[in-house]
Amino acid sequence: MRPARALIDLQALRHNYRLARELSGARALAVLKADAYGHGAVRCAQALQAEADGFAVACIEEALELRAAGVRAPILLLEGFFEADELALIVEHDLWCAVHSLWQIEAIERTAVGKPLNLWLKLDSGMHRVGLQPHDYRPAYQRLQASGKVGRIVLMSHFARADELDCSASTDQVAVFQSARQGLEGEVSLRNSPAVLGWPQVPSDWVRPGIMLYGATPFEESQAQAALLQPVMTLESKVICVQELAAGEPVGYGARFVTQRPSRIGVVAMGYADGYPRLAPTGTPVLVAGQRSQLLGRVSMDMLCIDLTDVPQAGVGSPVELWGKHILASDVAQAAGTIPYQIFCNLRRVPLIYS
Ligand SMILES: *Cc1c(COP(=O)(O)O)cnc(C)c1O
Repeated sequence: MRPARALIDLQALRHNYRLARELSGARALAVLKADAYGHGAVRCAQALQAEADGFAVACIEEALELRAAGVRAPILLLEGFFEADELALIVEHDLWCAVHSLWQIEAIERTAVGKPLNLWLKLDSGMHRVGLQPHDYRPAYQRLQASGKVGRIVLMSHFARADELDCSASTDQVAVFQSARQGLEGEVSLRNSPAVLGWPQVPSDWVRPGIMLYGATPFEESQAQAALLQPVMTLESKVICVQELAAGEPVGYGARFVTQRPSRIGVVAMGYADGYPRLAPTGTPVLVAGQRSQLLGRVSMDMLCIDLTDVPQAGVGSPVELWGKHILASDVAQAAGTIPYQIFCNLRRVPLIYS
């Protein structure tokens, strides 16, 4: 059997969820969109449901997968509905629903719903992706209240730059939010992972942690609270072949790496078809036989090469951690010019093993 696999530590997931609640002093929706950032949404929901205040996903398809698996906790659709006919399912399955656009408000006004809706009215406080403009916010709130179809309205917005700790954009967004919501009754939800970890002064009755649940930092630099996170996923495999090469020999496609000294090269069963980033360069850290080493040359579809020259105890069958508790996914992502969000979401083909 091919040794490539991803171990998922559900105890670490629970630790990180509790940390989000502790740091914020708020209720927390565990964000499980995109199959829980590659970690398996159903299994993660089951691991958290005894204690979680609720979950959040990107679309109704993801919510229905959780409901079909027996998850009864509240589930928020972070982008609401894409088509008005989803409203019937939203009511039937008791889903909470973000409202970010006037067309969604018109759809709610037009649709007969059997039960009051739980709506999260989203303000565009400066990110300029989705959300109502500040001058539309109060009228939108009043229209929803007047529709008679609403049980509760939570006031929501989203940060564009909360991962930049010395940047004033988040404070500006909070000011825009506070001004737009003046006089409107409702609980508040502003904070994603970087804001939970790094912006303790931002108000929130509900926080929406995603990446931090999986134990990866949203920050590029080190940060005190992020250091308390426990990595949930360990992507591991084994050395399947060892090459003894003289100095001056090329390794892998495109001969992107050429040995500078007599070298031992380990070939690992892991490639970009598993989601390991193809753009990870020579020097990207790996752990082999318990020792840090590095990637050499181009990542192939099913294999990659690592340096065993200074790891004499390593050979065929040695365990390799591509990321996990020792090699942080955020470090691998940074080396590859991307973010841990993406390398988790790209994971495929490897079996997920839960403990
Ligand atoms: C994805 C998402 C989150 C979670 O973001 P993280 O940075 O992973 O914590 C929170 N809120 C909204 C609206 C999102 O789309």
